[in-house]
Amino acid sequence: MQDELIAEYLRKGSWKKAVITTHHKPDSDALGSSLGLYHFLKAHVAEVQVITPTDYPDFLNWMPGNDHVMIYEGNEAACNNIVHDSDVVFCLDFNTLSRINELGEVVRAARAVKVLIDHHQEPEGFEDLAIWTTATSSTCELVYGFISRQFGKESVSIESAACLYSGILTDTGNFRHNNTRAETHRTVADLIELGANIAHIHEQLYDNFREERLRLIGYTLAERMEILEDCRTALITLSKEDLERFQVQTGDTEGLVNYGLSIQGIRLAVLIIDRSKLVKMSFRSKGGFSVNDFARKHFQGGGHYNAAGGQSSETFEAAVARFKEVIRYYRDELNEL
Ligand code: 5GP
Ligand code: MN
Repeated sequence: MQDELIAEYLRKGSWKKAVITTHHKPDSDALGSSLGLYHFLKAHVAEVQVITPTDYPDFLNWMPGNDHVMIYEGNEAACNNIVHDSDVVFCLDFNTLSRINELGEVVRAARAVKVLIDHHQEPEGFEDLAIWTTATSSTCELVYGFISRQFGKESVSIESAACLYSGILTDTGNFRHNNTRAETHRTVADLIELGANIAHIHEQLYDNFREERLRLIGYTLAERMEILEDCRTALITLSKEDLERFQVQTGDTEGLVNYGLSIQGIRLAVLIIDRSKLVKMSFRSKGGFSVNDFARKHFQGGGHYNAAGGQSSETFEAAVARFKEVIRYYRDELNEL
């Protein structure tokens, strides 16, 4: 952990221009940590720009600071200039540059100091300074820890508190995954004291669906979920036709993979989606099956021990077939757990 060093640079005013970036298709922890840090950094750095590699779900648009976010896709030249000119790039909630698409090589080549703040396994090591651990629930919890330890709780504004609460909430599955620690609850208690309006935030994140999204959930569970009983696995597959039928937008499929794990006896839940450019996969497990290892080994992915993602550049049908083939090698392991 290089908290002190990073804080020293900020106190001395060493950095005049900062960029904050986060992973492709940001979720609530990715955007929440970026904007949570943004509100704080403005007190120490003259120019701060949040750049996301792609768009993100509409249900995150309420976050304070959303209007100042630049989306790389479609604004490449302007974003490249800002990264080239920056003194520091904060990389939040990812640890391999491939997770930020084309922006990755721009960041790698930039003269800026790269600061990583992340809680995923196996960092690539592109950064100069890091606040990294897999022991923390979320990047939002890491950002809060850094600011409060180094600058005091009072440096966290009400805007920042709302953003940071949101990422902790979603990355812990509403405080139920095993990454929820006593420290997580202490952090959340502080954020509530600092003004985070939790009823409002829950409503924004969870009671804000388009009708089609709810119908997609119903359809998926009724028609598109397969139980591979011998592997204690629930597999959901969504084809291009399914996505078109429900006019699926960014964020609509978030959380779908978790339903499989709520079935008695299921140890592994998988979602395979035929996205426009590639086949995207999500993996969730219970207990001692590392989906980080599985995703890394078979599907160019990674993440956390019990929650990871991956992809395939094969056709949708081939990717589904490959998954069903490779999961057989883990049958005994999945039954032992
Ligand atoms: P999700 O399934 O919700 O997309 O992602 C689950 C977790 O794995 C998240 O923490 C996410 O950041 C990470 N993740 C998702 N896809 C990938 C991937 O392709 N590579 C890596 N390294 N991590 C991923
Ligand atoms: Mn996260």
